[in-house]
Amino acid sequence: AGLTATLRLLDSGASVMLVEKEKRLGGNSAKASSGINAWTSTRTEAHANDTLASFVADTAKSALRDAGFSHTGSMIELLASRSEAAIEWLKARTTIDLSKVAQLGGHSFARTHRPSNGMIGAELVFALQKEVKRFEASGSLRLCSGCRVTRLLQDGPEGAEGAVLGVAYADAAGDEHEARAADTMLATGGFASDRSSASLLATHRPDLLHFPTTNGDWATGDGMKLAMNIGASTVDMDRVQIHPTGFVDAKDLDASTKVLCGEMMRGVGGLLLTPNGTRFVNELAPRDKVVAAELATGATEFAIVLNAAASKEAGKHAELYERKGLLSRVVGAAGLAGYMAGMRGAADAATLAPRLSSELEAYSATAAAGGGDPW
Ligand SMILES: Cc1cc2nc3c(=O)[nH]c(=O)nc-3n(C[C@H](O)[C@H](O)[C@H](O)COP(=O)(O)OP(=O)(O)OC[C@H]3O[C@@H](n4cnc5c(N)ncnc54)[C@H](O)[C@@H]3O)c2cc1C
Repeated sequence: AGLTATLRLLDSGASVMLVEKEKRLGGNSAKASSGINAWTSTRTEAHANDTLASFVADTAKSALRDAGFSHTGSMIELLASRSEAAIEWLKARTTIDLSKVAQLGGHSFARTHRPSNGMIGAELVFALQKEVKRFEASGSLRLCSGCRVTRLLQDGPEGAEGAVLGVAYADAAGDEHEARAADTMLATGGFASDRSSASLLATHRPDLLHFPTTNGDWATGDGMKLAMNIGASTVDMDRVQIHPTGFVDAKDLDASTKVLCGEMMRGVGGLLLTPNGTRFVNELAPRDKVVAAELATGATEFAIVLNAAASKEAGKHAELYERKGLLSRVVGAAGLAGYMAGMRGAADAATLAPRLSSELEAYSATAAAGGGDPW
């Protein structure tokens, strides 16, 4: 969000100081893997009957909101109706490839745009920062990375309702500075990594504190705290979504930060199985439904199984996860049973093999028939 806002401002002739607390730009945006959701008016077979209203309805459903709900409803409509312009702007203003459009979880049609073979977040941040950094030479961009904003400067005593005049920030050496500007924009992301006892997560969703996160360490809700410190009010702070799939690293089973197994991995055809080898959910259901189904099984680990075609479709994603040792190549139901027998709560390989065989055959038969999936 910060990079896009910066580029838009620079393009309009403004001067921008971009303050980033990490050494590298990109935040969680650089971690995104599955794609950008957008309704586009260009029709292909995969979304011939899609409408903007359907995109709004699906988004509201995933957000567990009625589309007409006050602030959230209007925000969903705004984001959905401007999504095509956002995609077109990205394509026109950067070199990013967004040629692949897939139907992923929670969507009634194909709407998730990603590069034909690459990770959306890394490619997006690379493309945006390349354009943004071109403005450094002319002096209209001042980039201050490794600088953490600590306070909003105000016209009048701190906490009063004075106009924001800029920010105070600490540089990498810990020295404090002030930067004044006509306008100040906060784009500091979410707070899933804010884990202390007085954290925003503990305050608004204490029930989620025991779940691991796929967010970076930087996601500590700084912008919300900075704004609240000067009297801003907040909405929807309890709307923290649990993603159904994160990789369990055999080298660190209970790591509190995990690599996301992106939505795309189910979108290409990945099947979710319990450690006992049974399917239990429609993998493309909205995330809250998939998470609820996972929790209802009582298992703590699940297998995501991609056949050769799905793995090929996942392209670089599957290659990367395999290289990291998070995804393993197995041959046939017996190979899968051998792998799954090592999971927590799994049956032994001899019990699993015939069960997996019949589960996968049943799924293939349903897929070939084009319907009738029990989930
Ligand atoms: C693993 C993962 C995969 C995802 N995949 C997808 C996907 O495929 N599609 C999708 O639409 N969404 C995806 N998301 C969600 C998406 O990445 C986020 O919604 C999005 O990145 C939020 O963008 P942002 O600009 O608000 O925050 P970020 O991209 O996190 O940017 C915030 C920046 O602010 C900086 N910052 C924070 N506090 C301060 C401070 N005090 N001073 C200075 N700088 C500060 C941070 O370091 C960071 O660089 C994914 C999220 C994760 C974690």
